[in-house]
Amino acid sequence: MTTGQEVRLQIDSLTEKGDGIGQLDGRQIYVSGALPGETVSVQLFGIKPRYAQGELLAVLRPHLSRVDNFCPHDTCGGCQLGMLDYPAQLILKHQRLQASLRKRGLNVAVEPCQGMVVPFAYRNKALYAVRPGAEGAELGFFRKHSHELVACDDCALQPALVVDLLAEIRAWLRAGQILPYDEQAHTGVLRYLMLRDGRHSGEWMLVLVTLGDTLPHVEDLLVRLARFPMLRSVVHNINPARGNRILGFDNRILQGDGVIEDELDGLRFSLSPLAFYQINPEQTRRLYQAALTLCGLTGQETVFDIYCGIGTISLFLARQAARVVGVELVPEAIEDARQNAARNGLASKTEFFVGKAEEVVPALYQQGYRADVVVVDPPRKGCEPAVLQTMLAMAPRTLVYVSCDPDSLARDLALLQAGGYQLEKVIPVDMFPHTLHVEAVARLVRN
Ligand code: SAH
Repeated sequence: MTTGQEVRLQIDSLTEKGDGIGQLDGRQIYVSGALPGETVSVQLFGIKPRYAQGELLAVLRPHLSRVDNFCPHDTCGGCQLGMLDYPAQLILKHQRLQASLRKRGLNVAVEPCQGMVVPFAYRNKALYAVRPGAEGAELGFFRKHSHELVACDDCALQPALVVDLLAEIRAWLRAGQILPYDEQAHTGVLRYLMLRDGRHSGEWMLVLVTLGDTLPHVEDLLVRLARFPMLRSVVHNINPARGNRILGFDNRILQGDGVIEDELDGLRFSLSPLAFYQINPEQTRRLYQAALTLCGLTGQETVFDIYCGIGTISLFLARQAARVVGVELVPEAIEDARQNAARNGLASKTEFFVGKAEEVVPALYQQGYRADVVVVDPPRKGCEPAVLQTMLAMAPRTLVYVSCDPDSLARDLALLQAGGYQLEKVIPVDMFPHTLHVEAVARLVRN
């Protein structure tokens, strides 16, 4: 195998990042832009003992559902499935989830993936990197597998309004010659912009993330932003750390009160910059509704909502349960959760605890807390063993697991099944059209 060699390959699967995988002479060949089932011709590079990369030259036999990519910025690492039509994306996600579960010996039939009617402009949050460009500071996303900027202000997953807003911010950056962040040297002023909108309220938040304490030309910025009345809050966030973390912990309000509101299924939520909030509101309602249905509440239950964020699922549950106990790591999120409970008239039914779930949940159990139903919605790595062990010790009648990663979901479900529960149902909900992300909710009942 030599660099520059052209070969024909059969693609049999996808990596986690969405690259096609083919086999050649005992090596795995990774091909960006190729789909499972396709025959492609590639040029080899990056040859290592066990694997190599293939630059896609031509698709010789395309996937039956291959389409022209809707996105002109297809070097951006955001959407990996833009060249596959939407129904086929849903099938792929379903298969991926089913395969992860089977690998762990879980043979439940996964339900069809619930898709969107119009799978565009769905994101209520965007993070734009600010980096040097040809004509001054530029905004955009990172190229696949790198931190090289792909300039972009018209992403099809964002609402159209961001185009004007970003143009104004770019004009401010260039007029004030505000230095973009230089990752290598760890110098410069502005690192990232975060935009978040309350889809239901129409309120927007802009967060400007700087390396140091100061943000120059703030007055000019606020004057320019005055023509966007939907911007309720503008926040300056300081992140002095090296590395991939986007937001720092220090927030200074430049305009408004530092939060926005949104509404989900009749419940009102207040969101602060650091709090996690699901990014696809239309599908979030479906996901939460599925989780709620799988809980099978009668109004008598005590429910735990572990990894509760700002208490969104907690409040959905509280409307139909006797009591909800929420646990979450981020202090601001827990403050939001308490306020959200109060504003929705659910404070008397809810109790929120801040800290690591793996410490707080065992401590609550020690204090005598018990649950009839437990809901978990952990980050990608899944639940810590201490959380799973305590759930088993509490022996609730029903466990509902909301997951954004099929492999950690399958691992944790297998452990819960071995601990005396039966996996009954798995419902995937497509929260992230055109990407490889698979979100699902599963129900287990005690044997
Ligand atoms: N259920 C919420 C949040 C889910 S995201 C919603 O739907 O909006 C996962 C949440 O877990 C995030 O809010 C994150 O801050 C929190 N988290 C991450 N690690 C944690 C840990 N070790 N203990 C408790 N919470 C954690």
